[in-house]
Order: sequence, then structure tokens, then C-alpha cells
Amino acid sequence: MNRRNLIKGAGLGLATGLFSMASKTEEAIASEYAKATKGLPRLKITNVKAILTAPQRIRLCVVKVETSEPGLYGLGCATFNQRPLPVAVAVDKYLNPFAKGRDADNIEDMWQNAYTSSYWRNGPVLNNALSGLDQALWDIKGKRANMPVYQLLGGKCRFAADCYTHCSGRDLKQLESSVRRAMKENFRHIRIQLGGYGSPHLSEKPHFKDAEFGLSSDSHMDPGPYVRATIKMFEHIRSACGEEVELLHDIHERIPPIQAINLVKELEKYHPFFIEDPFAPEDNGYFKLLRQQTSTPIAMGELFNNPHEWVGLVSERLIDFIRVHISQIGGLTVARKLAALCEWFNVRSAWHGPGDVSPVGHAANAHLDLAIPNFGIQESVRFSDKTKEVFPGYPTMKDGYMYVNEAPGLGVDIDENLAAKFPLPEHPGYWSPVRRSDGTAVRP
Ligand code: MG
Repeated sequence: MNRRNLIKGAGLGLATGLFSMASKTEEAIASEYAKATKGLPRLKITNVKAILTAPQRIRLCVVKVETSEPGLYGLGCATFNQRPLPVAVAVDKYLNPFAKGRDADNIEDMWQNAYTSSYWRNGPVLNNALSGLDQALWDIKGKRANMPVYQLLGGKCRFAADCYTHCSGRDLKQLESSVRRAMKENFRHIRIQLGGYGSPHLSEKPHFKDAEFGLSSDSHMDPGPYVRATIKMFEHIRSACGEEVELLHDIHERIPPIQAINLVKELEKYHPFFIEDPFAPEDNGYFKLLRQQTSTPIAMGELFNNPHEWVGLVSERLIDFIRVHISQIGGLTVARKLAALCEWFNVRSAWHGPGDVSPVGHAANAHLDLAIPNFGIQESVRFSDKTKEVFPGYPTMKDGYMYVNEAPGLGVDIDENLAAKFPLPEHPGYWSPVRRSDGTAVRP
């Protein structure tokens, strides 16, 4: 009997013993368990490495943790599309020597000590590296227990994760047909945007380009045209597509806070499911003013890295959906605690789930979605055929729901040889500048 089956057998034996001999003392149970698992070597971490790949031209970073049990490894998501190389260095040059030789089983202990191993902490690069290690340890734990990770987290609260999809169009007609297509695919929650974030195509005069300020490739948007068009967009889609479909929208932080407050107030009558990121994280102080003005549900947090950014917003009941990017806050260990904090303040989850989360990260999102009582909604993603080949076991979509498979752990593997055939694009990757007409930088 191999070790995994032996442990499983020990667990079953223990459960049967508990059932049949209710009068057994705790000491007897502990001694029975110790006897059943006696002699098992501790599972050690032998290597931690970053794997960079871009099958969909998005810079994915996945961490592989190998162990002293031959063939037993775990995978975690450490994807930071705009700065992948520093994350890989943090994993290979710092977390690998830190973690090597330590117990793979003690996830919480590892998280606490790896978190402070840089002394300075809570930045996006190190949080992503930590997430890669952390999620990989949960994957290993699931494989050891012969259970999917959602079972380790307490089991299912729902059969699958209800998702929203993205619809956009340069004008109302295009957007409406995109929404109708999504409704035909049985999505009940749809995010609507007119063009790119802040509807840059509606802003007319990029005067900074005439003045040769910045680069001609820099984007342009102005708050006025965007705000006016967004109100008309909600009015149109509500009247064209009915009251039943749930509508979401992402302001993406691009307008001055007081204009965002006015916009969210105006949108209240169209009953949005949520309005996302009305303010940049630097403007968290505006949420109290927003709450006094409107009951429109608010989602916030995809740029958060630090607990100081979310604890106050949650505990003061200033947001309705927590929308962090799980690898940006340090992985599953911290995300499940954040979910538990949110539960007591009736804040629901809406984990960030765009293309720049690897299929391993999407699986981590979905396992947590299944297991928490205060799940709200999940952002869905479409993997390309190449991505699906590199990551067998990826989460799947049906009728607007996301499913994970029942394989032990996170359920997603990586074909490393194939991953190597999709190197990162030559462009280093950064968030392109967006400017107002006069050239002023817009904060995303
Ligand atoms: Mg967003």
C-alpha cells in the first residue's frame, strides 16, 4: 500500500472507530491514529521553481513545488502579467532556498514565515511569489488527502460557481448584440462596457498628442464623455434586454472620486448587480461618502495587496463585494481568512478572474467559491485551445457556471515541455499610460 492510500486507510479506520466506539477516549483515538501512521517520513519540500509561459500571449507564472515523495508535487498561481520576471526571481532565488527542506504539510506555518522572510512585505511581487508557493502546498495537501481542495476547505456550499461574463461594444447596438449573445449562452450576470475602460474612443481631442507631450501611442480618455455615455448605456441595455439580466460595470478607477459618486448615484435606478472599483485604492476614504449617497452595490479590491486596504472597508460595511486578485494578496491561505472576515459583515466574494490569472489560479478561485458561504459571483474566463493544452484539468464553464474537476488537489496540471514552447512575448509588459486631453496621467 503506498503512503497516500495508507493515510486514507488510516483516516477511514479512525472514522469507523469513532462511529462504532463512541465511548473511546481522546487519548485512545490519538494513540490509534499514531499507530496507523507510525513510521511515515515527513514530507519535505525539495524544490520550488517558477514556470513562465504565455500560450495566450498573457505572461503567466506558475510555481511548482516538488517534494521528497517521488512524483508528488503541487502547482500554484503567481501570475503578475505586468512584472512577471521579478516574481520568477523572488521564487527561484529567494523562496526556493527558504522553503527547501521544510515540511510541505505545514501550510499556515509556511505562509507566516515566508510572508515575513523578506522583512518588508505586502507588495505585489512578493505576494505573488508567496501565492505560488502557498497554492502549491494546498494542491499537495489535497493530493495527500486524496481530495479536491474544496473538500479540505469544508466541502461544497453550492454545486458550481455562478459567473459573470464580459460584454462590450463601441456603440449601443454592438453592445446590445453582445449582451444578447451572452444571454443565449445562459449567462445571468453580464458586465457591460462601452469600448475600453473609461470609453476612450468617445473622448475627442487628445491635445497632448498635437503638443507632442508623452508618446503618440499613449491612450486618451476624459471623464465627461465616459460618464454621460455610461448612464445612457445602462438606460439602453435595461430597456432593450429587460430587468431579469443582472448588469455589472467596472469604472476602473479612472474618474475623479466626486464624479464617480455622482455616476454611481445615477446608476442606482437601473439596479446594477454591482459597480466595480469606483475609486483608486489611494482614495479608500471616499467610500464613506459614497455609502451615504447611494445603496448601489459596490465591488472593490482588485488592486489591493495589503490588509490595511480591506479590513476597514469590510468591517465598516462600506463595500458589498470583495474583489481581490488572490495571488496579489498572497494566496489561498490569506484569501480564505479574508472570506471569513467578510462573512461576518455580509460582504460577498467576487474574486478577480481575468485572463491574467493562470488556469491554476482560476481553479484556486473556484475551489474557494465552492466552499465559502458568502460567495457572491465569479468572473469567468475563456481559455484558448493552447492554454487548455498546456494546463490539463483547467476549470470548465457550462451554462454560466464554473466547475472544477474532482481530481485530488486543485485538479490542474501543467505540461512543462509544451509550456516552454510559449515563451513570454518580447514586449516586457506594462500598463500603458492613459492621459486626459491636456496630458495629465489617469490613474487606473
Ligand atoms: Mg476590474
